[in-house]
Amino acid sequence: MWKSTIGRRLGISFIAVVIFSISLLGYYLLNVFYRYNLDNQLHSLANTGQVIKVLLHDDLTNKPLSRHTAEINHQVKEILAKTGYRLTVITPQGNVILDSQENITHLDNHAQRQEISAVLKGGEIGSSVRHSGTLDYNMLYVALPVYNHNHHLSCIIRISTSLASIETTYQHLRNSIILALILTVILALIISSFLANRQIKPIREMTKDATAIINGDLSREIKVHSKDEFAVLANSINQLTAKLLQQIADTKTLAHQQSLILENMDNSVLLLDHHCNLVLANARAQELFALPEDYVGKNIIANLGFTTLASFARKVIGKNKAIKRTLTLKLAANTKTFTIFLAPVNTQQATYVLCVFHDISLLQEIAQRQTEFVSNAAHELATPLTSIAGYTETLLDDDFSNPELSRKFLNTIFQESQRMNSLLTNLLQLAKLENADYLQSIPLEKITLAGLVENVAKHVVSTTNKKQQHLNLDISLPEQALVEGNTTLLYQAIYNILENASKYTPEGGKISLTCSYDTDPKFAKIIIADTGIGIAPKDLPMIFQRFYRVDKARARASGGNGVGLSLAKFIVELFSGTITVESTLTKGSTFTITLPLLP
Ligand code: ADP
Repeated sequence: MWKSTIGRRLGISFIAVVIFSISLLGYYLLNVFYRYNLDNQLHSLANTGQVIKVLLHDDLTNKPLSRHTAEINHQVKEILAKTGYRLTVITPQGNVILDSQENITHLDNHAQRQEISAVLKGGEIGSSVRHSGTLDYNMLYVALPVYNHNHHLSCIIRISTSLASIETTYQHLRNSIILALILTVILALIISSFLANRQIKPIREMTKDATAIINGDLSREIKVHSKDEFAVLANSINQLTAKLLQQIADTKTLAHQQSLILENMDNSVLLLDHHCNLVLANARAQELFALPEDYVGKNIIANLGFTTLASFARKVIGKNKAIKRTLTLKLAANTKTFTIFLAPVNTQQATYVLCVFHDISLLQEIAQRQTEFVSNAAHELATPLTSIAGYTETLLDDDFSNPELSRKFLNTIFQESQRMNSLLTNLLQLAKLENADYLQSIPLEKITLAGLVENVAKHVVSTTNKKQQHLNLDISLPEQALVEGNTTLLYQAIYNILENASKYTPEGGKISLTCSYDTDPKFAKIIIADTGIGIAPKDLPMIFQRFYRVDKARARASGGNGVGLSLAKFIVELFSGTITVESTLTKGSTFTITLPLLP
């Protein structure tokens, strides 16, 4: 009947109210009815009694009263016959001396009867309702005093009647009320069930929608067609859902932004739990630390060997304070130095440690290189300067008696100053090329590579001739093959390599310079090969570094300062080219330059 607890509660309350109110009303009505009828009957008895009292007054006051003297006259008999009332006359002592319906010999003393005793106590009227054992229904008794001329109580007349008719009507009425109550309860059951279900319906619909919302369908709107409190509630829930949706969208956007930042930042980020297990790693960290895909839960000590980092993390958790440390970590590929920022992340469940790795390896290397560069440059400059100073001092003390020797000294001073000049020019050139603004300002030209190579060769010929070296020139690249670059810089790059070939090839050696298409015709290839001293395999990877010279004494003797190749490599790579070397000690070296050709 009721499909819900609320419905049942509503129905039961409704029925309880119905039962209570109808019962109360019925009880009240029955009472009023009974009282009203009883009062009426009482008045009627009293009035009849007064009439009888008048009619029998003389009989009852003049003669001395006894069972034999008391008689009912004709008029009274008629009244009693018509009304059906019973008349009893009682002496002040309580003896019954007359009764219209009963044989007085059977009647006991009435002095203690409630209505009689009330009159005997001086009352003008006495009444009572008593159950008659003989008749088995209630009787109403009304007693009235009869006074003689001396105002002494002569006797008491009592009129009584059965209350059967009143009580039967009372019972009928009570049954009708009970029936009405039962019918009303049945009706109330039906109505309450209908009403309850009607009231519950919007709640049920709201519950359905709310359950869908809880299950994640936040776009669901609670619909209520009424304009009552349910509508207000539904509206509030809808507003709440809309706000929640907005907040989720905001959080998603924020999370997306943060994940974008996290994934695209240069720094590696790790999130560790209090056991130093990995909780999160950004893409940079995954790549740097070569983390497996299922890195979550992996321990950084067991899996990566980061013992010191783990001790930092424990410190952060212990002190609940952020710290910054510099740490060198051995990675699978290489060793890197990081500045690591470690901060505690406190959540309700646990404390985590956020580690942000800033790779300072490059900075350190740059700083180290700068120091090396300064020291190398200083050293390179100090050597010719010492030499110049020594020879100049000797000359100052000299009397120039041996002009040939003095000339030799001056020549050495000149050569050393030339070397210094060349070194400074190269260093300045390198410094300029490392300046981003200068690089931007380098004018780009379309260069006929074959012409440029030929030009370089022309200028080196004097040097090779001096050493009786044979320079073989083979330029098969057509004139229309152009490269994009800067003529001065590319000239210098090729010149440095060709000059080296001459420098490190003994007298009478062979040098070849070829310029052709690469196997890939989009590129040009310049090969400079010599039959010189060659380079040992251990030195090969280093020869493009600044100030690196295989044999310092030999290089210096041939005017080298260890900068030429690094400059050549820098220039070639600046114009998207490559430079490689192959060499066999004592047999010779081959340098290959490739440059992209313009389409
Ligand atoms: P340098 O001015 O000393 O020649 P480079 O940078 O040009 O400096 O060359 C670096 C070093 O590489 C040289 O000192 C030399 O030892 C070696 N080298 C360069 N070219 C050759 C070559 N063609 N044959 C043998 N060794 C070479």
